[in-house]
Amino acid sequence: MRFRSSKVNEFRLWGLGMTMGGMLLMIIGLAGIVFDWGKAGRIIAVVFMIIGMISMMVSMGIYFWAGMLSTSATVIDCPECGRRTKMLGKTDRCMFCKTILTVDPQYEPTAENETAATQTVQLELDRAHEHKPH
Ligand SMILES: [Zn+2]
Repeated sequence: MRFRSSKVNEFRLWGLGMTMGGMLLMIIGLAGIVFDWGKAGRIIAVVFMIIGMISMMVSMGIYFWAGMLSTSATVIDCPECGRRTKMLGKTDRCMFCKTILTVDPQYEPTAENETAATQTVQLELDRAHEHKPH
């Protein structure tokens, strides 16, 4: 799977977009009641409301899941822009400058989809200090 921005941002974007979509579906469903299209309108309303509700709940779940992920993500200082970013897994992109950050050479992105402007930065992560008890 390829991500254009950092994974946390990507999940948030999808969660938010799907919440909006769910809301829109529910509004369309409401229109079926408001404009009184008879029996068909009511059926459409119910169907759209249910679909909208489910997609809203799913997307809110994704949104909160992204929030949880971001708290468990590795916090590092981006070597490119110097800002503090969160990294999920072994390869992720910087939240700010979209630089690919990786700790494993195996996952280094191939040149096929990457533009010359996108740089890959190898990180030397010292994982030993991460689980230090407070
Ligand atoms: Zn950066």
